[in-house]
Amino acid sequence: MASKKPYSFSASVNHMVDRAFKVLDIDPGVANDIKACSAVLQVKFPVNIKGKIEVFTGWRATHSTHRLPSKGGIRYAPIVDQDEVEALAALMTYKCAIVDVPFGGSKGGLLIDPRNYTRDELQLITRRFTRELVRKGFLSPATNVPAPDVGTGEREMAWIMDTYKHLHPEDIDYQGCVTGKPVHHGGIRGRTEATGRGVVYALREFFRHPADMKSAGLSGGLEDKRIVIQGLGNVGYHAAKLLQEEDKALIIAIIERDGALVNDAGFSIEHVRQYMNEHDGCIKGFPDAVYSENGNKALEMTCDILIPAAMESVITADNAEKIKTRLICEAANGPVTFEADEILNKRGITILPDAYANAGGVTVSYFEWIRNLSHIRFGRMERRYDEIRGRHVISAIESLTGREVPDWLEAEIVRGADELDLVRSGLDDTMRLAYQQISEAKNSNKKIRDFRTAAYVLAVSKISRSYQVIGVY
Ligand code: GLU
Repeated sequence: MASKKPYSFSASVNHMVDRAFKVLDIDPGVANDIKACSAVLQVKFPVNIKGKIEVFTGWRATHSTHRLPSKGGIRYAPIVDQDEVEALAALMTYKCAIVDVPFGGSKGGLLIDPRNYTRDELQLITRRFTRELVRKGFLSPATNVPAPDVGTGEREMAWIMDTYKHLHPEDIDYQGCVTGKPVHHGGIRGRTEATGRGVVYALREFFRHPADMKSAGLSGGLEDKRIVIQGLGNVGYHAAKLLQEEDKALIIAIIERDGALVNDAGFSIEHVRQYMNEHDGCIKGFPDAVYSENGNKALEMTCDILIPAAMESVITADNAEKIKTRLICEAANGPVTFEADEILNKRGITILPDAYANAGGVTVSYFEWIRNLSHIRFGRMERRYDEIRGRHVISAIESLTGREVPDWLEAEIVRGADELDLVRSGLDDTMRLAYQQISEAKNSNKKIRDFRTAAYVLAVSKISRSYQVIGVY
């Protein structure tokens, strides 16, 4: 197996989805249509960097348009190509279907190492890339809405929105042309942490299902579970921090660009992150931990849960036999290749697949887009009203019982939900419901042996139904 040429990223995704088509016995023509990337744009554009013209290459792939807008991040990375962008766009299609976010799938990439450019240069490059996307019909609130991904964040999203606004001053919904914006520019509270928090909500729901835990060889709750995490970027950091601080799990190893840190007693994620901030993003030298240069070796450590939260194709046919965990929770997109997935399934290692586990980001992007179209912050109308109702409940309880409600309880009952409360509640509900549907699909059909196939079965049935209803087939 290891000697065979590995599948490309998009072929790997397609092979995984094929398992679902087989279970559902879907017509091969329909299957090919669902898998096909509907449009892909490649642009090359010049930007004057320090007096020299540099030509940049970028892509935006629209995998599906059965729902609009098509949705997905834009990544800035030194390794990105059309195949990768198409694979990631396909994952977005399935992801949105799994969590019932009414969007098609899209993804963009710019071939660049952002660390080599200043803030002002990145702004010039981003604005120019945005103009290309807008002019060629690959960016608007109604048709195609980017978001942050590897190498981009709310700063880039603000530049994208501002460029679109200048090109389309008549568009009253211009803020909805991109999600993941800063809160004071139409962003939503809780978007930055959303993907990581969604990963944690997915794991918590898994641990509420005793039969699923048992078949993974796990028991109890998340407390004291030994976790290895790869990548302490936006997704990995928030996931690991919540797992450590709220669920009392033990993060025993952290893998980063410059190596791995191991500490059997568990890390304080906040301390590691602080250290990285002070040391140019590096973990080497962090006190009270064993450091090793070969980070990927730590993927093979014995642990209860392995969370790859960095890039694609980190678990391949070459190391899948050596993975020693019970559960892999895919916080990154495509961390396990098709070949590795087959090996891990045979070895009985449970995988919560990317298209479900990291769907928290696009879920909260959906909330942000709705906020932008409705031009009002969630909770603005009802918060004080809820507070007044809470006070009435307190008065009723006190007058009926003749006793005073303790202050802490009164504060809880009286408090109206703000935007962050609502976003987290919507995210939690979304991740729980999707898990329940996936678990139910897996456990009720003997032909489905793993969570990934179950998730794809759900996605593909929803997508093919939607095509059928509008008469495509
Ligand atoms: N880039 C994220 C992902 O891969 C978020 C996409 C979005 O919010 O549109 O899911």
